[in-house]
Amino acid sequence: MANADELSLVRERALSDAALHIPDGGKNLVFGKGNPDTPILFIGESPGAHEDRLGVPFVGSAGKELDKLLRLIGLSIDDVYIANILKYRPPGNRDPTPGEIRAHTPYLVEQVRIINPRFVCTLGNYATKFVLAKLSPDGMAKIPGITALHGKPVEIVIDHLRFTVYPLYHPAAILYNPKLRGDLEADVKSLGGLLQTKRERDGSLDAWS
Ligand code: URA
Repeated sequence: MANADELSLVRERALSDAALHIPDGGKNLVFGKGNPDTPILFIGESPGAHEDRLGVPFVGSAGKELDKLLRLIGLSIDDVYIANILKYRPPGNRDPTPGEIRAHTPYLVEQVRIINPRFVCTLGNYATKFVLAKLSPDGMAKIPGITALHGKPVEIVIDHLRFTVYPLYHPAAILYNPKLRGDLEADVKSLGGLLQTKRERDGSLDAWS
């Protein structure tokens, strides 16, 4: 089955999962967007108000920043896929709770397994900790914060999955702390270098090293 079809089936299941019942005031589950056949997956934290309204991730101000960052290295949303740790907007944009992370991330894990990416770019603390804890809520607490990990690639093997994790500051972080912009842009440029090295060495991003 094509990745797009498999992802649609997972989305349908998420939509009918009572554990992902949208909190009062929310409108939509936000599943993912982009190219289902990409070798590059981005993972954010949780949808904001714009995303909730449209049912699409990264369409608000953080999304505009992410688009600019992708353009820095010659990429667009058509080259990557983007999903979140939480599939609904937590009321008031609060942090995800441990219970929510447990309820929502099985769907993210299915997205990762279907896409089977070579690069997973994690945006901010929650995505970085979840992925570096080997796609598990257990062990997230032991993973250092994004300030220590950003820009440092980590190779991960989980069953048949093998990918490079590339932790990045969350693009929303530079909106309230502009001092982080330089670091985030430098990290994204290093990511671009990593992708270019792989293209030159292996002929494509899809190839196994
Ligand atoms: N921030 C996120 O982490 N995800 C979105 O979809 C939007 C903003």
